[in-house]
Amino acid sequence: MKTKFTLILAAITLVFSAACAEEKNKEKAMETAKEAPQEPTEKVVKTDEEWKKILTPEQYRILRKSGTEAAHGDVYHEFKKQGEGAYHCAGCNALLFSSKEKFDSGCGWPSFYDPAKAQNVTTKTDTSGGYVRTEVNCAKCDGHLGHVFEGEGFNTPTDKRYCINGVGLKFVPAKK
Ligand SMILES: [Zn+2]
Repeated sequence: MKTKFTLILAAITLVFSAACAEEKNKEKAMETAKEAPQEPTEKVVKTDEEWKKILTPEQYRILRKSGTEAAHGDVYHEFKKQGEGAYHCAGCNALLFSSKEKFDSGCGWPSFYDPAKAQNVTTKTDTSGGYVRTEVNCAKCDGHLGHVFEGEGFNTPTDKRYCINGVGLKFVPAKK
């Protein structure tokens, strides 16, 4: 009797954790678009409620609440495998980065040495967490993208590391 109960419990736990893992993967995966999305021509302003409707909870947490995705997660592994293409803002579609400026920093988050479209990427000083960092934002929707670090000794044209949350990006593969 006891064994049967344990078995049932184990089965339930298994089903539950599998469902959770699937849900997590769905949320974490970087979006991939078939066609280049329509870029915004002016500032994109939405209420929190409106953002919640168009973003996944994880995208909302990162883009709108300055969250950070887990390092070396599914998104990062996906990012490393991606070939030529463009990275748009998952919130407003503005073109932010491209595979041309992508480099392997080994830090666990998508890294670029420069934005693809500089006017769509802004930076500001971030003093949260008790230290001074430079926050990177989408200029069109003010979404939080990540941080930029300089002078770390990476062998790239700028020696800057735009350390970006992949969840906030939409990848558009280049047409062959
Ligand atoms: Zn944006």
